[in-house]
Amino acid sequence: SLTAGIVGLPNVGKSTLFNAITKSQVEAANYPFATIQPNVGIVEVPDHRVDRLCELFHPKKTIYTTFEFTDIAGLVKGASKGEGLGNQFLSNIRLTDAICHVVRCFDDNNITHVEDSIDPIRDIEIINLELIFADLQTIENRRSKIERKAKTNKDKESLAELALLDRLQPWLEQEKPARLLDLNEDEKALVKSYNLLTAKPVIYVANLDEEGVMDPDSVDYYNRVKEFAIQDQSQVIALCAKMEEELSGLEKEEKDAFLEELGVPYSGLDLLIKSAYSVLNLCTFLTAGEDECRAWTFKKGMKAPDCAGVIHTDFKRGFIRAEVYRFEDIDQLETEAAIKEAGRLRLEGKDYVVQDGDIMHFRFNV
Ligand code: GDP
Repeated sequence: SLTAGIVGLPNVGKSTLFNAITKSQVEAANYPFATIQPNVGIVEVPDHRVDRLCELFHPKKTIYTTFEFTDIAGLVKGASKGEGLGNQFLSNIRLTDAICHVVRCFDDNNITHVEDSIDPIRDIEIINLELIFADLQTIENRRSKIERKAKTNKDKESLAELALLDRLQPWLEQEKPARLLDLNEDEKALVKSYNLLTAKPVIYVANLDEEGVMDPDSVDYYNRVKEFAIQDQSQVIALCAKMEEELSGLEKEEKDAFLEELGVPYSGLDLLIKSAYSVLNLCTFLTAGEDECRAWTFKKGMKAPDCAGVIHTDFKRGFIRAEVYRFEDIDQLETEAAIKEAGRLRLEGKDYVVQDGDIMHFRFNV
């Protein structure tokens, strides 16, 4: 499954945020497939559609889909040169699919900052530069291989790859992330095979204090991060890690009551989960019945048999067809009988591209 890595300078609130994640970690009993490691937190993806289906079907079991975060502590200035546990951390980032970059946006004289002052953009650039340096090394290693190959073989592929490396290197040297370079499909595939750190999507997580998070737009630190994120074509989430940690310790009812008091539908962590899910092009289809209402994750563009395979490999192998209706329709019409009567139930075959919010019932041969 896909994972988002939590990175940032020391003392910005990463551990606090990761604690919030592990405190709201799913119960292993409901998710037996999840082998949970100490630096991994698996959380439910909040989804009001699942809640609504439960009201309609009164199932015995309710299961949300999940998303995984990895704690990547200890990335410091000089990591790409082996400072601290540098290279180890960089290789941990390599294993992730998206980067949640935590940025300190709160003042607190009792909590020292490694750079001795609060300056979120400087902090962001320190980390981003380490990622860029690591990518430049990757590019150099690749170039020495390909140059040799191109010299002896003079093949079209090697020459095309050299041309790509010739564009990537100066781009990175201008301190720009690989994900912002305009690439054609072949080049995209090559860059994917390099697994560059700066090719991964980024979500900037602005960690504000309890006061600031009530009105993030009034906080200058946050506005600077937001502006940076826009230029970087990345997402930005404002939260207060400390508050998220406290919220995660609460029962669902208490948490909902607290959020209602604040006048927000989702906690900062909920928004981060949703954001990580969407930058990775993940979508949700649902299954509904009296036994179980459940959300399942699939990658945008997946067809019906592959989605059936998310539930069980047998469903994919023996796929016949899918019965599909939309969440919006059951939300409004309330029963499957009414859905059928209204002609809102569709039969779809193996080429059907499943959509976020589809409610699926698979027919298959055993
Ligand atoms: P890490 O080194 O990035 O993992 O940072 P920590 O999570 O250990 O946080 C460093 C210090 O900042 C701790 O003393 C936290 O209690 C404090 N801290 C973290 N988040 C917040 C926050 O949102 N507001 C305030 N005021 N302090 C925070």
